[in-house]
Amino acid sequence: MEFETNLAPYAARSTASRGRRFAEPAPASRTEFQRDRDRIIHSTAFRRLEYKTQVFVNHEGDLFRTRLTHSIEVAQIARSIARNLRLNEDLVEAISLAHDLGHTPFGHAGQEALNDCMKDYGGFEHNLQSLRVVDELEEHYGAFDGLNLMFETREGILKHCSVANARKLGDVGQRFLDRKQPTLEAQLANLADEIAYNNHDIDDGLRSGLLTMAQLDEVDFYARHRTEVARNYPGISGRRAIHETIRRMINALIVDLITASRARIDAAKLESFDDVREAPPLITFSDEMNREAAQLKRFLRQNLYQHYQVNRMTSKARRIIRELFEAFMLEPRLLPPDYQVAASTEGSVHRQARKVADYIAGMTDRYAMREHRRLFTVEEI
Ligand code: MG
Repeated sequence: MEFETNLAPYAARSTASRGRRFAEPAPASRTEFQRDRDRIIHSTAFRRLEYKTQVFVNHEGDLFRTRLTHSIEVAQIARSIARNLRLNEDLVEAISLAHDLGHTPFGHAGQEALNDCMKDYGGFEHNLQSLRVVDELEEHYGAFDGLNLMFETREGILKHCSVANARKLGDVGQRFLDRKQPTLEAQLANLADEIAYNNHDIDDGLRSGLLTMAQLDEVDFYARHRTEVARNYPGISGRRAIHETIRRMINALIVDLITASRARIDAAKLESFDDVREAPPLITFSDEMNREAAQLKRFLRQNLYQHYQVNRMTSKARRIIRELFEAFMLEPRLLPPDYQVAASTEGSVHRQARKVADYIAGMTDRYAMREHRRLFTVEEI
């Protein structure tokens, strides 16, 4: 049965893929990239995303985005753009749903703290960890570790990578050494991520009361859509005004990305899928939209990500991660048996540190807080 119909010549195809690390019989009722998506959804790391957050910690409110709802929003945005550009929706969905699997608890504060703890042991980077989750850490199949995903899905998950790390990764890191581009689907998932978080962080920022509508008016992109909403619906206010504004912003970003990318793809005169790798990045916003998005990002950094109430939580988060790491390194016997490395084996300190990082990175926000209490609070064992 032919599943991948109506794709552009420069779209990724299961049939032209570089395949899986361990050969498997072709699926009968779906494409290889659909199979990847299905494996990601059934993974343990995917379910953990429900209790991990980016800006707000999981217990702070029921309506804030979690990494799970964020990933679903990214997949939705990416798929709708992919269909417009006749790219492979299944691949773009698989990459989008997997892109945050390696994140630590407590978002960027957690990642920075763990990277700091790991500085003598090769560091910690959430992108690399996402790849590690799907390549090694998931225990789902009898024949191999990890999910054994397709090359293009793995490559899309590995959004950034240092040259030193790329050398260790083999084929999937090669493009960072050759300075070549990944598939258009990977490029698209990356920008869909940006569209999703810029907009939902405004929504969550307003919901939390850390941002106000008046304050947001200094962001041109927001102010323009907000004015349009007020003109179309006189008297509109509250949640409805916020949602109506944000949905227009998401739509404007999507339309801009489609238009600008289509123009670049046409100008590049791509004849085949392989041309994508040699070309400059082709999935892009217009210059004008990039300027507007930069202003919005600056605003969010100054007013939301560095808000003193957010700082208080991220400071606590850093302390939790650091103290957990130190306790486990000092006394590896506190770790669950699966994460203990025999002290007599070669390079055991490095390997133990990596296992501790895997254990901590896999924790949800609330699990990390509970584990911290279990280790450090005398009254509560
Ligand atoms: Mg993301």
